[in-house]
Amino acid sequence: MPVEQYRSLVLAGVRPAEPVRTLLADAHGCALAAQITAPRDLPPFPSSAMDGFALRSADVAGASHRTPARLRLAGEVRMGVAPPDPVPPGGAVAVPTGGMLPDGADTVVPVELARIEGGSVVVEAPSAPGRNVRPAGEDLRRGEVLAPAGRRLEAADLGALAAGGYAAVRVHPRPRVAILSTGNELVPPGAEPASGQIHESNSYLLRALVQDAGGCPFYAGHVPDDPDTLVDALTAAAASADMVVCSGGVSAGPDDPVKRAFGGSDAIRFFQVALQPGRPQAFGSWCGKPFFGLPGNPMAALAGFQLFVGPALDLASGLPPGPVYRQAVSEGRMEASADCVRLVPVRLIRRGPVLAAAAGGTRRSNQLARLAAADALMEVPAGRDIFPDEPCRVIPLRTDNA
Ligand code: AMP
Ligand code: MG
Repeated sequence: MPVEQYRSLVLAGVRPAEPVRTLLADAHGCALAAQITAPRDLPPFPSSAMDGFALRSADVAGASHRTPARLRLAGEVRMGVAPPDPVPPGGAVAVPTGGMLPDGADTVVPVELARIEGGSVVVEAPSAPGRNVRPAGEDLRRGEVLAPAGRRLEAADLGALAAGGYAAVRVHPRPRVAILSTGNELVPPGAEPASGQIHESNSYLLRALVQDAGGCPFYAGHVPDDPDTLVDALTAAAASADMVVCSGGVSAGPDDPVKRAFGGSDAIRFFQVALQPGRPQAFGSWCGKPFFGLPGNPMAALAGFQLFVGPALDLASGLPPGPVYRQAVSEGRMEASADCVRLVPVRLIRRGPVLAAAAGGTRRSNQLARLAAADALMEVPAGRDIFPDEPCRVIPLRTDNA
């Protein structure tokens, strides 16, 4: 099955999580369920952009060095308090930056351009109407869009929503993702592997990927290659998750527990996807929750995550489904597979305006250490080599990529 077809199949089995009202402080990274408009003008009142004197522009229209205007100092605006009185004609009111402009005033003369003599404010130049004044609604008018539906809330969005007075917003909650590992050969890091055993690593890889994609991962454990134990673990995991991601055991080997437990069932189906690495994939629903069975090979699990699980997580989070590619230029020749999309670990090198992708890793899919030295996965389309200096697309693996 072509990669795009399998991704469509998977996405058809996933729905965005029901929006919930969430404290703004907890909504970072979540997608907004519906558009939010400004409930009032932003800023809500006209204020001074400078420390200075609020006055009527007409009173200083003819002011010059030779003929300074002398205005009566009629009071002082305090922060957070509406000025009790308007500025009288021929008067000036001291106002701090951000202080509310008193009625009658239409301009602010900065302190640097005025001096106080006795009880008067002396001004030696005109100040146009609106000068150093932030009008109400300058940023946003009441009813204008503060944040659009589907927006992934980041720092500036949260600041704007708080400025609009919202303490809570309706967002799609982060999907809880249960991670399961299968394999008799696996022991957790920290334990000493006996001969024939290896350290379990996919749960660490997958938890980090889920987190980076905005989900809430939890490790539902490691199960041996036994179908009954797997079904029990899967049922328990599905009970407290929105999605289950399992690695290993999806091939046709005699020990492959996912295949043995669900092969031939309707709930979870098995696919040969035209992807290398990552050909065997399983997808379905268990206890009403989407289930992904990724191949156990770490590089294949990563590829399956990037192309299928990640986009499904986006969709579940209320976001447009990825993967998000970056444009690059291939340093060397990348050999295509005749009938599979290849994902090849590459290093990214900035060469002036161009991002160059250099094969850094290996064709073998089980070498995590070499994968860890890569910055991205280059997509090599089926049946078409990528030649040196040819444009290509890559899926970044690191958040510190240039
Ligand atoms: P499988 O998909 O179960 O046939 O596993 C393919 C390869 O990936 C085997 O070499 C496994 O030992 C390895 N593998 C499976 N699961 C994990 C895991 N959680 N961590 C590290 N390696 C794994
Ligand atoms: Mg296995």
